Order: sequence, then structure tokens, then C-alpha cells
Amino acid sequence: MSLLRVSNLSMSFGGVKAVDDVSFDVQPGELLALIGPNGAGKSTCFNIVNGQLRPSHGSVRLDGHELIGMRPRDIWRRGVGRTFQVAATFNSMTLLENVQMALVSREKRLYGLWKPAASCFEDEAMALLDQVGMAAHARRACSVLAYGDVKRVDLAIALANRPKLLLMDEPTAGMAPKERNDLMALTKRLVSGRGIGVLFTEHSMDVVFSYADRVIVLARGKLIAQGDADTIRNDASVQAVYFGTGKTFRPRASLSPDGATQTEPRA
Ligand code: ADP
Ligand code: MG
Repeated sequence: MSLLRVSNLSMSFGGVKAVDDVSFDVQPGELLALIGPNGAGKSTCFNIVNGQLRPSHGSVRLDGHELIGMRPRDIWRRGVGRTFQVAATFNSMTLLENVQMALVSREKRLYGLWKPAASCFEDEAMALLDQVGMAAHARRACSVLAYGDVKRVDLAIALANRPKLLLMDEPTAGMAPKERNDLMALTKRLVSGRGIGVLFTEHSMDVVFSYADRVIVLARGKLIAQGDADTIRNDASVQAVYFGTGKTFRPRASLSPDGATQTEPRA
């Protein structure tokens, strides 16, 4: 059984079909990239899966259990975690405290009434910080961290909740190319070992093709292609959406400083 099964999802805003009969699966341990031009419906898909939006039609099943109609918090309880475009850490707290807080809320989620003290989780929090390469900074305040490092702490916090599925809507927005690659390499290493499925969006085609196990492409709300990097790179409808017919992706795309779509058509 798929970890996540999205079936025939549709959602309109006014007259705009933001998501139009979209179906896809995510397997345990798989990194699935959801790509498409601005306005394609990617964030709307994310927000339906995490319960922020209710679709007009369709089904979203996690381990066979229907999520549509559930509140965001209950969907989180079932094991759908997310990282945020704007990092969700508390600036005045240390890295260690931030991760400990996440561990406390996980225990509350799993064991209900028992309210554990944050101090219980110091070792586990340190281990998580170590896994994201931030253990040396554990007792510093989040406010002093560089942006890329905050994203690592964010990942540790998301993992502290032991999600089955992790939703990452533009996790590398605002990051330099090297940082983007580092964050996705780290994400891949940490989730595949744990069997966590990841659904992520990303503007850099380099990053998508380097780290996604599979790619699905949305355009104007419709799913127009899915497959591995090579399939997507060579798909005529994808090329048409991004560049106009007859163009192909460059093997290594250059990265633009503003984080906009970085692939260019080959002459
Ligand atoms: P993407 O994340 O791929 O850029 P979105 O899912 O944000 O795309 O948007 C898909 C379409 O739905 C766009 O046309 C956008 O303008 C529209 N849309 C998204 N959210 C809303 C909203 N809350 N109200 C009205 N229209 C929206
Ligand atoms: Mg978006």
C-alpha cells in the first residue's frame, strides 16, 4: 500500500481551477518532487494534504486512512509533518530547547495526558541536532544562526515528531545554490533511513533532478507528467510548459540569484 494516495483532487478559487483532478502516490522513504510554474497549484495541493484547505472533490489517504475532513492538528497527529518556508523556530530559545519542545509535543501526541518535562529529552534532542550537523551550536539562541542553519534546525524539529510523511513547500527558498544542495542531501539521507516519504517543491531543476526519486509536474492545476528525472527532462509537454515546444533542459542548469526557475532552454 502507498504511504500517501491522492486521488482525483480538485479545488477552485472563484473561477480558477487551482487543482484539477490530480492523482499521485508517495511511497515510504521516497522523495517526490512536485514541480510546475508559478500558480500551477502546488501549494494548494500541499495545503489540502495538510488539512488547511478542503477540496471540492477527491481523496487523500495516509496508510489507507482518509484525511479529507480532518483538522490540520489531527492530520499532524497521524504523522504528516511539514517544514515551513519561513522557519518555525523560536528565536529566543536555544537550538536544544527548540528541539526539546518538539519532542515534548510528540510525546503529548502519542501518550495524551502525560506531560513530560522538556529536560527528559536532552539526549534525544542532542542526537537529532547532531544528525543535522548542528550539535556544536546546541546551546546558542536560534536568533544568532545563519538562515541555512535555521533550516537544518527546522528539519530536526520536523523529524522530532517522527512523521510518516514530510511536506516541504519550497524548503530551500531564499537559499544559495550550495546551501540548497546541502539541505536536500541532508534531507534525503535522514528520511530514507527512516522510511519517511517526502513531498517537496523546488524551483531549482538541478536540485530536483539530483535528489528527487520521482517527479510530478503540474501546469494550470493539471498533472501533465510524472516519472524519474530523465523521463521528465525529456517530456515534450513539460518542456512546452517551461520553455515552449522544441526546447530541452540543459544537463546542468545555472542558478539565478533570486531563486526563480533556473533551467534555461538549450539553443
Ligand atoms: P503554486 O504553489 O504552484 O505557485 P498555488 O497553489 O499557490 O500555485 O496557486 C494555484 C492557483 O490558485 C493560482 O491561480 C492562485 O492565484 C490561486 N490561488 C491560490 N490560493 C488562493 C486563494 N487563497 N484564493 C484565491 N486564489 C488562490
Ligand atoms: Mg506555491
